[in-house]
Amino acid sequence: MTLVVSALASSSQGNAILLRLEQTAILIDCGLSMRAIERHLRLAGLDPADLHAILLTHEHGDHALSAGKLARRYGLPVVCNAATHAALGEQLAGAAVELLPIGAAAGIGPFDITSFRLPHDAAAPVGYSIAAAGVTVGLAVDLGSWTEEIVEHLRPADLLIVAANHDREQLQVAPYPQATRRRIFSSLGHLDNVQTGELLARIGADGRERDVWLAHLSEQANTPERARKGVGRVLQMAGISGLRLVTLPRRATLAPPGTAVWSSDGMLKQKSLFG
Ligand SMILES: [Zn+2]
Ligand SMILES: [Zn+2]
Repeated sequence: MTLVVSALASSSQGNAILLRLEQTAILIDCGLSMRAIERHLRLAGLDPADLHAILLTHEHGDHALSAGKLARRYGLPVVCNAATHAALGEQLAGAAVELLPIGAAAGIGPFDITSFRLPHDAAAPVGYSIAAAGVTVGLAVDLGSWTEEIVEHLRPADLLIVAANHDREQLQVAPYPQATRRRIFSSLGHLDNVQTGELLARIGADGRERDVWLAHLSEQANTPERARKGVGRVLQMAGISGLRLVTLPRRATLAPPGTAVWSSDGMLKQKSLFG
C-alpha cells in the first residue's frame, strides 16, 4: 500500500493538498475556484467524484473558497470543526458536514486523522496529522507562531508540510499596507523563514530523517531560494541534518516546476507531478 501526497496549490492565492491511498482520496483545503480545483484534480489523475472527503484547516478563502461548491456538486462530506463550520455559514449550506472537534481523531478509509490547534487569526484554525500505510503526514500551514504542543503533533511525521511564509526583511519592503504587514508579522499571522527553521529544528532534534515541504510562500515577501536558505541556515546552526527541504510551487503546472509528489514507498519522492 502506497500513500501518495500531491500538492495541487500552496499560496495565499489558494491551497489544496491531495492524499491518496489505494481507492481512498482526501483533499486538505479547497482554496481554488471550482474550475481550477476540478482541473487540478483531473491533472493529478483523479475524478473529483472519487474524492472521499474535503478536510478544512480554517475558513479563509485561500483554504475554503470552493469547499461548499465541490462538496455539493459531487456529494462529498466536508470535515471541519464547529467554529470553522459556523464561520463558513452559508458557504457550506447544503453540503454534508462532519464535525471533527480539535484534538479528536477520525478515520476516513485507511486514514487516521487528528487535528490540532494553530495560532492564526481565524475562528479555530487547525493543522492535521494523518497516518496511513505505516507513515504519517503532518500539516501546519497557516500559523503565526508555534508551541511545544504543535511540535508534539508534528513529530511523528515522515512528510512535514509547514509554511515558510515570508522573509522578514523582504516583508518590510513589500508593497503591503502597514496593517497587512502587522497582521502577517503577528503571532496570529504567518511564520517567517527563521521561525519555520526554529520549528523544524525542534522537530528534527531527534535526528530522524524526514521530507519537508515548505508551503504557502508569499509571492511578495519570499522566494523559494530565500525560504530554503533561510530555513536551512537555522537548521545548520542547530546542527540538524536529517530534513530534506523542498519548496512548493504556488500551483501545480504541466511544465516545470511542476509540483511536489511524495510517496510512502520512497520511489516517487519529490518527483514532478506531471513531468
Ligand atoms: Zn492561507
Ligand atoms: Zn489563513
